[in-house]
Amino acid sequence: MNYEKIKEGVRLMLEGIGEDVNREGLLETPDRIARMCAEIYGGLYEDPAVHLKKQFAAEGSGMVIEKDITFYSMCEHHLLPFYGKAHIGYFPNGKVVGLSKLARTVDVFARRPQIQEKMTAQIAEALEESLDPRGVIVMLEAEHTCMTMRGIKKPGSKTVTLKATGVFLEKPELQDRFLAMVRQG
Ligand code: ZN
Repeated sequence: MNYEKIKEGVRLMLEGIGEDVNREGLLETPDRIARMCAEIYGGLYEDPAVHLKKQFAAEGSGMVIEKDITFYSMCEHHLLPFYGKAHIGYFPNGKVVGLSKLARTVDVFARRPQIQEKMTAQIAEALEESLDPRGVIVMLEAEHTCMTMRGIKKPGSKTVTLKATGVFLEKPELQDRFLAMVRQG
């Protein structure tokens, strides 16, 4: 990541809105934002396959669900946060991954300029590629601050996205089961 470019960009934006970039409160801001970018956009430099390659044999395993994975991402249209929960389900094909790796995978795709629809599909694709499961389902529920603090200003509204593959597409009742399990307590 090019810290100097980020710092220069932040300075220009502050000047653009009419701020004095040399006043005390803003002096360290470009540097702070540059360092923050390494964290919140760090997913650009990570490959989810690295997290998903450690697998365990689990013959005959039924549906695996990891729900309520908290994530924070940045809307690529406004560079404002959107955040919420990811719910992931899959039907293994003899192999499973550690549950923490599903959360890691969510983070890899959350920590970059993003749109929720794309992030949902990317998580599903990463699981498809690494695990070759019988099916994957990914649901994201998020509040977009670009919709709540600006624009149409609807605090508390949530955007829900869903991507299903394999058996979850072939058998709608499996989607219903997943949704029921996500919704319960
Ligand atoms: Zn936005």
